[in-house]
Amino acid sequence: MLIASDIHKSYGNLHVLKGVNLEISASEIVSIVGSSGAGKSTLLHILGTLDQPDQGSLQMGGKDLFNMKSEELAKFRNEQIGFIFQFHNLLPEFTALENIQIPAFIQGKSPAQIQKKAGELAELLGITSRLDHKPSSLSGGEQQRVAVARALINSPQVVFADEPSGNLDTQNARALHELFFTLRKELGHSFVIVTHNEELAAMADRKVEMKDGNIL
Ligand code: ADP
Ligand code: ADP
Repeated sequence: MLIASDIHKSYGNLHVLKGVNLEISASEIVSIVGSSGAGKSTLLHILGTLDQPDQGSLQMGGKDLFNMKSEELAKFRNEQIGFIFQFHNLLPEFTALENIQIPAFIQGKSPAQIQKKAGELAELLGITSRLDHKPSSLSGGEQQRVAVARALINSPQVVFADEPSGNLDTQNARALHELFFTLRKELGHSFVIVTHNEELAAMADRKVEMKDGNIL
């Protein structure tokens, strides 16, 4: 589904990614682990097209993503790629439901379609009764589940998550991890998850370990 080949990235003299190759299959859950500074976040950002590599290619659905025009790539990203971060980054002045729906309005989907999909995701994520609340009145676990629904509203092929449970207690972290597997089973998304959580890393279909800019 996604093929990254020979990805290199430097910041000044710091060679952060040294020729990374990685393939992700449809509906696969992959964890990326490794010590701080190994290049995990940098790789995740490049796989998610938030950042460009200095060298290398990224193919998804038969398209060569780093050869696309930036407008075309932005549209492709909003449609095909979801993101979940350690801190949920929800917009504080909007309700949970509005936060979830925003990427779909940007995509130009019909209100009826958006309503239906948001309702379906809220049900799967157990946040139906929380949709009218603003983020500040939701618990940490609920906020992160809203962020997951927002990442999935456009039915992306793949979701990239950077320490998604890094800000949650053990119980909420475990609940979130189980939801990734439920969502994969119900909706077929792939998940690529950078994590320091050993339980989550071990649950994944495949654990990818990075060290000094390479995959071991
Ligand atoms: P990890 O996620 O494995 O902790 P990162 O990908 O965040 O690793 O960072 C790898 C290295 O690249 C680190 O030394 C980090 O300081 C450096 N780095 C990351 N992003 C930037 C940036 N935008 N500018 C300069 N250095 C960066
Ligand atoms: P992580 O918790 O995944 O290791 P970091 O704290 O390393 O993440 O990085 C957070 C953000 O800061 C990333 O977007 C990364 O690109 C950027 N960053 C990391 N290190 C540097 C740096 N030395 N200079 C500039 N930006 C950096």
